[in-house]
Amino acid sequence: MAKFFIDPGHGGTDVGAVANGLQEKNLTLAIAKKIRDFLLQYENTEVRLSRDTDKTLSLKQRTDMANAWGADYLISVHINAGGGTGFESYIHTNASKASVNFQNIIHPEIVKQLDFTDRGKKRANFHMVRESNMPAILTENGFIDTQADANKLKQDAYITRIAQGHVNGVVEAFRLKKKGGSTVAEQKLTAAQEKVRQEAIRLGITDGKNPFREANQFYVWACLVPLAQRIEELEKKL
Ligand SMILES: [Zn+2]
Repeated sequence: MAKFFIDPGHGGTDVGAVANGLQEKNLTLAIAKKIRDFLLQYENTEVRLSRDTDKTLSLKQRTDMANAWGADYLISVHINAGGGTGFESYIHTNASKASVNFQNIIHPEIVKQLDFTDRGKKRANFHMVRESNMPAILTENGFIDTQADANKLKQDAYITRIAQGHVNGVVEAFRLKKKGGSTVAEQKLTAAQEKVRQEAIRLGITDGKNPFREANQFYVWACLVPLAQRIEELEKKL
């Protein structure tokens, strides 16, 4: 079971950045709720939000919650301000190896979903990524005070894309499997399929038990390596 703690930045009396008729606290809550709804479509996931209403919370209350729950990953969602444009993500200055790995996977997945400028993977001494005991990331999704970014943030479809990017990254990083996805091991094979399976076992391509999950790129590589090694051996003999 993977436990994901999603933190919509700001809330209640702390509205965050405000411009162009938008308030940061409302946007972060909308994004976080969509992340939760999408993530719950995957197997073995638990999701907790630091707040799912317009509520005032200190930064300490947020990381205390995540730490007490024993989350496996923390995502703090924010909207930028200060006259720039685009998307950037943060991990702590002295981030763990896991935090670095997850940022490397999740950041580009978010960028892929958006037509925001990629401002890059960054590091900072932010409370949310420093005081959390688990790997953590803080995302800054566009600039509320830049008209072009604000116009995008006003569209619900764009909020959905931002959430989808976060989820795609998490799915990749944690190898999550969609609920109701087919599991090969449980499928009854036809006689012809069983013959292919037995042949694959004989050739050492698979142990016959895997893949339990939908085949991912690593599984495909794992199948290709023994084949390539055999070809290499044969070529040496020629
Ligand atoms: Zn913020």
